[in-house]
Amino acid sequence: MHVLIVEDEIQLLKEVKSYLEKEGFICDEASTGMVASDKLFSNNYDLLLLDLGLPDYDGIDLLKETVANSKNTAVIILSARSAIEDRIKGLNFGADDYLPKPFSLLELKSRIMAVMRRKHGIRANILKVNKLQVDLDKRIVTCEGNPIALTRKEYDILSFLILNKNRVVTRLQISEHIWGDIIEENYNSNYIDVHIKNLRKKLAEYIEGEFLETVRGIGFQFNEFNNPL
Ligand code: CA
Repeated sequence: MHVLIVEDEIQLLKEVKSYLEKEGFICDEASTGMVASDKLFSNNYDLLLLDLGLPDYDGIDLLKETVANSKNTAVIILSARSAIEDRIKGLNFGADDYLPKPFSLLELKSRIMAVMRRKHGIRANILKVNKLQVDLDKRIVTCEGNPIALTRKEYDILSFLILNKNRVVTRLQISEHIWGDIIEENYNSNYIDVHIKNLRKKLAEYIEGEFLETVRGIGFQFNEFNNPL
């Protein structure tokens, strides 16, 4: 998951970034509204963590920009502004959640997971599909109780495809989500194929059938067995 953290308190920015990276998120940072605006323009983030009080920008304007231009980016506001009007304003302009400072990193992670669940229309951190169970919180995949040994990138790709099951996910989307950049897309593309190949091999030890489909020229699709549609 590719996250942009916008925060001008450098120590807090570093703390949040190092915590989320340990938890498996790909993080970019911006300590001014200008830098944040540039990054939002050139990257496609899954999530924006947004401090409202920035030295050069009103965070609400950045929120409006994000909502208008990047419809798939979820937004959680992080702000010392605890006034109820600011929370209401943020939520009314399209933020998905609001976390007043000071906050605990554990609560931040829970809020992120909740926002991402809502975004993907799921209720729990455990996804079940084709005998597989994905624990999004612990980042573990099991098949009928047996843990499947996946590398970090393999887990990231598989869980991303499963979250978007029965839909084509483009190479570019995978690249942005897993590597956090779109510049070196060809370079990453070869890596995606290698990871998919390894994933197929590992999953074949547990489940029969072709459910990790290559959609030629576009990307990949994880198909749910007995999908009613
Ligand atoms: Ca601030």
